[in-house]
Amino acid sequence: MDRYCVFGNPIGHSKSPLIHRLFAAQTGEQLTYDALLAPLDDFTAFARAFFAEGLGANVTVPFKEEAFRLADELTARAARAGAVNTLKKLEGGRLLGDNTDGAGLVRDLTVNAGLDLAGKRILLLGAGGAVRGVLEPLLAERPAELVIANRTVEKAEELARLFADLGPVVASGFDWIDAPVDLIVNGTSASLAGELPPISPSLIQPGHTVCYDMMYAKEPTAFNRWAAEHGAARTLDGLGMLVEQAAEAFFVWRGVRPDSAPVLAELRRLLG
Ligand code: NDP
Repeated sequence: MDRYCVFGNPIGHSKSPLIHRLFAAQTGEQLTYDALLAPLDDFTAFARAFFAEGLGANVTVPFKEEAFRLADELTARAARAGAVNTLKKLEGGRLLGDNTDGAGLVRDLTVNAGLDLAGKRILLLGAGGAVRGVLEPLLAERPAELVIANRTVEKAEELARLFADLGPVVASGFDWIDAPVDLIVNGTSASLAGELPPISPSLIQPGHTVCYDMMYAKEPTAFNRWAAEHGAARTLDGLGMLVEQAAEAFFVWRGVRPDSAPVLAELRRLLG
């Protein structure tokens, strides 16, 4: 059987094995997919040992930058992001590094949620690995402006500089902005601790602004609860992004694009 996996630490609660097994069953592809706990101090040796036989891997926290360094070749979107969430073994054993997080987010926003991002004002909260991965695909949708706001402003400034040639991207502190925007995407990890980035409720135009938290959980996240309390038109969570980035990775490995809609519905059912 062709072997695939996800590397992470911790990894116990990963939904990726379920998602990829559902994709494999749906498309008739013969493969195995496991969650592997990689050691924090020796990711590279662990990953190389897997690839003695394995054909592909997803990479999650905290190894996306190490996977970037491990890859022998990079796709343009992974090179720009500086992070790899998908590894594929090429002919001759070389490893290709890709990043499908941004494609997953954009597909969830545009196809699943039906949003048109062209000409919109987008506020992206955070400047960590997840945000790096989504900037290029978001800018490709031609927003009117993309503001990156982060607790450590210098990191937002660095990203704005790095991506400036791709579109109208600017950096900000959380409390420098208060004019309403069309879409707020929370790419901070604050929700993991039940916390909220300190941003002004006036960023939400009641009945108009859409709010998206990259995190997902059984109950609405702190950010999505805050957004709903202040009148957001819609609140969306990151489960769709997770399934869509996986579908993109599956396509990179197998050349077959699974139908993500029934898999997302099944995950929602299991989560609920
Ligand atoms: P990182 O650790 O790389 O970055 C964390 C970011 O969150 C930094 O910008 C950090 O700010 C900010 N932050 C952390 N705590 C707070 C807080 N209390 N208040 C304000 N800002 C805070 O994490 P990732 O980028 O890898 O992940 C971010 C989120 O995205 C996570 O919730 C993760 O689960 C989610 N994610 C979801 C995916 C999906 O498929 N749905 C895929 C990838 C990620 P500072 O720079 O100042 O430290």
